[in-house]
Amino acid sequence: MITRTEFADILKLLKQKITLINLDYYGDLIHKLWHERVVKSEPALSETEFPVKAAAQLVVEVISNRENHVLSSIQAEELVQQYLAQQSIHVYWQQTGIVPEHGDMYIHLSCKIAVEKLADLVTGIISLENWDKNVCPVCGDVPGFGCYDKPEGKRLLVCGACLTKWRYKRIGCAFCQEEEPKQLKVATADEFPGWIAAVCQTCNGYLKTADLRMLASEPNWYEAVMETLPLDYALTRDSKSM
Ligand SMILES: [Zn+2]
Ligand SMILES: [Zn+2]
Repeated sequence: MITRTEFADILKLLKQKITLINLDYYGDLIHKLWHERVVKSEPALSETEFPVKAAAQLVVEVISNRENHVLSSIQAEELVQQYLAQQSIHVYWQQTGIVPEHGDMYIHLSCKIAVEKLADLVTGIISLENWDKNVCPVCGDVPGFGCYDKPEGKRLLVCGACLTKWRYKRIGCAFCQEEEPKQLKVATADEFPGWIAAVCQTCNGYLKTADLRMLASEPNWYEAVMETLPLDYALTRDSKSM
């Protein structure tokens, strides 16, 4: 098991290291492509534009820092590619004596932080104003969270992969776009004031949504994944008793 402290330490290290990595190799031509795609209602990034190099640099850093093991950048790029292709890298961890659960977490978080940095670059360049779809305008992934912003309570969706936020209509399931009120429910758990789960009975999807008007600050979305787990359990419990 990776403890919360370990998780927070790894995240902190990666966030420090990413500030030293630049993404200048995404030049003007690619910026133009991003813009054109979003105008056509396609996500800005294509699969081939995944920041493999940046993610690999992070993997090298985190492994040398935490495991006393030196990885070449070529090896790191290969591991990232294998991870992206959803191939298991457990053999590699076994050879190096790194606990597989830790190794996987290093790669996973390195990829996430690298993508988040690229997403920042993209949203700094292109306008998301006309984007009204239920998938991320930057990477095309489904929303991981929702939030109601301050002060008006407009709904934003938060990408589960790159953490980009974008405006979305207030009513309706963010997954299957169901708008029939009787199909849409809201669940809360006492332990999570300021959080609701928007539940859709058509697709059985639910979106954990933070009401920023009720929270002291915006959640750390990485930690929210872990911290709101009891809300998921509460939902499973409630849906069973329905
Ligand atoms: Zn995204
Ligand atoms: Zn739905």
